[in-house]
Amino acid sequence: MPCITLLLVEVFDQLMSDGRLTSSNTGPLPNVVRHGDSLFTANAVPGATVYGERLVDIDGIEHRQWNPMRSKLAALLLLCERELPLKRDSRVLYLGSASGTTASHVSDICSEGIVYCVEVSQRSFRDLVGLCEVRSNMIPIMADASLPEGFDSMVERVDFVYQDIAQRQQTDIFLTNMRHFEAPAGVLMLKSRSVDVNRDPRRVFAEVKGKLSAEGLHVVEAVELERYSKDHAAFVVEAGL
Ligand code: SAM
Repeated sequence: MPCITLLLVEVFDQLMSDGRLTSSNTGPLPNVVRHGDSLFTANAVPGATVYGERLVDIDGIEHRQWNPMRSKLAALLLLCERELPLKRDSRVLYLGSASGTTASHVSDICSEGIVYCVEVSQRSFRDLVGLCEVRSNMIPIMADASLPEGFDSMVERVDFVYQDIAQRQQTDIFLTNMRHFEAPAGVLMLKSRSVDVNRDPRRVFAEVKGKLSAEGLHVVEAVELERYSKDHAAFVVEAGL
């Protein structure tokens, strides 16, 4: 068996080296292909990269490699058994989009939907605006995510809230937005050291899970991302169950 594994790895490397993959596996989401521990999204803007990622042809369609060391959502998809409720036409509220690394892959996945990208840092926002100019389903919103009433006029109904904000109040910000936009589902990416640098991350994760449940959300999956992202966990939630 080790020989077969080695052979498969060599074939994969060879195909990757000339930018082609000839067979595609079913991915965990629409427009996503998984090959072993590698993920790819179908590029909504063929020929363009966002952060220097590799472009690969898979069955005649250009895909962007999605690096789990740079994107916690990619890490979650590799580690989580459960399918996320993201569809081609989903409307996603993305809180803490920075310059758009992960948001651009969400834009590939939800190719017929919308990704509202909220970011507070001016510097990141400048890059984000440039990206949204070429990706028509991404809407840049310069705002503080903890105050949804400050940007809700720019956001219509949402199906999913994704949050990646390394702030002490990150759980409260997530809860506020889930409620404010009446979102049926979402993912909170939690950085334990931002909540409390001195506490054991596992205790922080347990406390956050309890708080999400106490506030009426159903935590359908809680996944430690340690393998890809130190001191981070992802909470996949559904509302109104
Ligand atoms: N999600 C990004 C990705 O995977 O490409 C990385 C996000 S980075 C870890 C966190 C971002 O949240 C930073 O760009 C930061 O400026 C932003 N942020 C922090 N507090 C915020 C707030 N209150 N409202 C909106 N954005 C905030």
